[in-house]
Amino acid sequence: MFKDKVVVVTGGTRGIGFSIVESFLKEGAKVVLCGSRQETVDKALKELNELNPDYPVRGIHPRLTDYDEVKKAFDQINDEMGPIDILINNAGISESTPFTDYTLELFQKVIDLNVNAVFNCTRAVIDKMIERGNGVIINTSSMVSIYGQPGGVAYPTSKFAVNGLTISLARELAPKGIRVNAVAPGITKTDMVANLPDEMIEPLINQIPIHRIGEPEDIANAVLFLASDKASYITGVILSVDGLMRS
Ligand code: NAD
Repeated sequence: MFKDKVVVVTGGTRGIGFSIVESFLKEGAKVVLCGSRQETVDKALKELNELNPDYPVRGIHPRLTDYDEVKKAFDQINDEMGPIDILINNAGISESTPFTDYTLELFQKVIDLNVNAVFNCTRAVIDKMIERGNGVIINTSSMVSIYGQPGGVAYPTSKFAVNGLTISLARELAPKGIRVNAVAPGITKTDMVANLPDEMIEPLINQIPIHRIGEPEDIANAVLFLASDKASYITGVILSVDGLMRS
């Protein structure tokens, strides 16, 4: 479905991002995964190589919060692999500090990765996408971008901002041939959730009408749909992928 498309996935070393990377590779894309450190990038590349040694995948780790580093890394991809067709802004951190313990530093740390890095990566690809008259950008938001969450206020705040960026850029860039959408996962079985004991997981499952926790592949499937030509008339959408867990 994505033969020879160049796809960049931030936060691609594990969890939802890793599943997105693997799904694009299975569909014939050339993928660049971004991680935060060389070791985690190497580990992800090794895992993918074990799955299929012929996968055209490489890994980078620019500081996503530094525009110049991101721009340099993305320009290098452009020179060596061709123009970036699809950007997936997936890297993010979550946290749950009570507001009475909150500091501006913590607030800024979360906003810096979850919002400013989305800005940086999008800004770094956009001129070439506009020149070519096509491109797809997909952001990983969260169900808390709709309902908020009690605690860790920077996290839902950041995801509300991601939705704002998504919908506003979709409006601005649609006439230039670029679609911008987001997925809003519910609780998804990444490392963090997978390690929770059953007695914590069961009450969570009971709140989900589809009655299971999301798998990273559930989110990857939605991302691939939105990135594909089958979604060519869809832009500015925040697609909930949460088994109807809306609280
Ligand atoms: P994860 O912690 O398993 O993976 C996070 C990814 O982000 C990793 O690849 C990591 O390398 C990258 N990352 C973290 N800090 C970084 C930094 N400073 N610089 C560059 N990269 C960094 O998380 P996940 O659960 O797979 O989450 C992926 C996205 O999905 C996030 O945006 C998260 O907010 C969102 N999300 C997750 C859930 C869930 O239940 N897992 C629910 C809703 C939304």
